[in-house]
Amino acid sequence: MENNCIFCKIANGEIPSATVYEDEDFRAILDLNPASKGHTLIIPKKHAANLFELPEETAEKVLSIAKKLGARLKEGLHAEGLNVVQNNGEAAGQTVMHFHMHLIPRYNNDTVNVKWVPGTLTEDDKKEILGLF
Ligand code: AMP
Ligand code: ZN
Repeated sequence: MENNCIFCKIANGEIPSATVYEDEDFRAILDLNPASKGHTLIIPKKHAANLFELPEETAEKVLSIAKKLGARLKEGLHAEGLNVVQNNGEAAGQTVMHFHMHLIPRYNNDTVNVKWVPGTLTEDDKKEILGLF
């Protein structure tokens, strides 16, 4: 556990939370300031600051939990859609530096905003990026 990490404390039960799911490696809780009704966070119990620090095995498990909980939220709350969001780094909007995955149920005409202005893929960028792999 990392000192003074609020999600370490929540995930390990040191601070109470509205828990919707728990297993050996994860706890999923309701977000205190939900973007929409049902906004849930999946938090690993072992500290990892972000996706890059997440152990491979934990990374593999998290999407399977997102699928299961997301389906339950969508159906149970009669949502029309679901965003799965995961921020890494301040530039990407991460505010709590312990990996977490957001499940955000979406309702027709809700006020959630996860949109961006579509750009254009330039030939130079395409060449540069394809060269990375
Ligand atoms: P991010 O911006 O991706 O780091 O998201 C952090 C999320 O954690 C935000 O949606 C906050 O509302 C949520 N949050 C912060 N502290 C708590 C807490 N103590 N319990 C539940 N959710 C929290
Ligand atoms: Zn932590």
